Formats: sequence, C-alpha cells, structure tokens
Amino acid sequence: MDFNSHTDGVVRAAVALVNALTPGERRGREWPRPEGLGAAATEGLRAVYPDHREFTEPEGAELAELAARLRAVFAAVAAGDLDSAAARVNALLAETRARPMLQRHDGEPWHLHFHGRDGSVAADWGASCATGLAIVLGGEFSDRLGVCTAPHCDRVYVDVSRNGTRRFCSTACQNRVKTAAFRARGKAG
Ligand SMILES: [Zn+2]
Repeated sequence: MDFNSHTDGVVRAAVALVNALTPGERRGREWPRPEGLGAAATEGLRAVYPDHREFTEPEGAELAELAARLRAVFAAVAAGDLDSAAARVNALLAETRARPMLQRHDGEPWHLHFHGRDGSVAADWGASCATGLAIVLGGEFSDRLGVCTAPHCDRVYVDVSRNGTRRFCSTACQNRVKTAAFRARGKAG
C-alpha cells in the first residue's frame, strides 16, 4: 500500500467512524447504537486524529448517518460488488461536493484537503472519507476494504498488509476464530 499519508488517514477515519457509529456486532458481542453519538464519534475519530476537537451531539448524529453510508461501501466490496461500491462513493462525492484544495494551517506545511472550509462537519468528513475510498477503489488495491469474517462481528477494516490476506477487524477476532478451530480439532480428535 502506497497511499500518501492524508489518503491513508481519511481511509482509516472512514473505518473508525463506521466501527464507532454503526450498530451491529463487535468481536462476538452485540454492538448497539451508541447513546451519545457526539462522544462516540469523537472517540472513534481520535483513534486516527488524536487532537481532533469534540463533536456535538447533532454533529454525531449526522456522522452516524454518514457512517451507515460508508458501511454500505465496505459491505459492497466485501460482497464482490465493486459496481455498487463505486456508485455509492460517487453519490457521496457529488452530495458532499468533495474537491481537492491545498491548505496550510496550524504550522503544518501545505497539504491536500478534500473539502473546503465552509461545509458542515458531516459534509467535510463525508467528502474526505469518500475521496479516500474513491482513491482505494480506483486503484490496484480496490479489494482491500472488508467486513470482519469472524462469527458475530461485522466491524470493517482496510487491509494494508503486503499480501492482502486480512480477513478480520482485529487480532481479537483472529484469535477467537483460531481458538474455535483449535477446539473443533480437539473434539474431532
Ligand atoms: Zn471482528
């Protein structure tokens, strides 16, 4: 994987927002919709951008809607339906008016943002995440978005391993599956 660091960051942000804000299952347990969406969105995004400011509750609710749409992209890729994934990303790019723009702030050198400074939080993050996913889908690593294949887990991931063999959201899920396979072999023996 040889994305530039900003692309890498926004793809990881898409993963973080989906996993923090969309209900389902996580590592063998039910993962309900968070009670405080602002706090959940903040915690999720700070895993990638530790200094990000706190989101308000209405912003968290908007980001949860965005996360549901981003999840559908990961699910489409995992199902082998790249056409659907591309259509969903294109719709997000259009709606959020994603556009490249060089910016310089907070003492950083010039760097590329995928949105302007005048949008809502959800539109800005939507534009950034959709652009990141578009770069992945349009490149040779288009199959690197995935949904965890462990039982009772539907968290998403981006596979940045060299050989692209990742199947789980986390080492926790990988170990759960390994242990279950080991036990099954024990019973069979
Ligand atoms: Zn998992």
